[in-house]
Amino acid sequence: MTTNVHITLDENLCKGCYICINVCPKDVYEMSAEIGPKGFGPVLVAHADKCIKCYECELLCPDLAIVVRGDDE
Ligand code: SF4
Ligand code: SF4
Repeated sequence: MTTNVHITLDENLCKGCYICINVCPKDVYEMSAEIGPKGFGPVLVAHADKCIKCYECELLCPDLAIVVRGDDE
């Protein structure tokens, strides 16, 4: 059964390493073209609907900025 996926990305914790963009096999994340207040293009959760809940982004984010959960979790 397919469940909805909720991806939370805490911009206060994110340091813009873009590991999440590079590891996601489904291209869920994109880098904003606009430079944000921290001096880099913030990461956008652009295609959450494509997420397959592999958790690579959550596991590899060095700053624990990402949480991936389904409706049933
Ligand atoms: S891996 Fe984490 S710290 Fe790096 S850009 Fe993604 S959310 Fe930000
Ligand atoms: S859980 Fe996997 S598919 Fe979903 S956003 Fe993270 S890396 Fe991409």
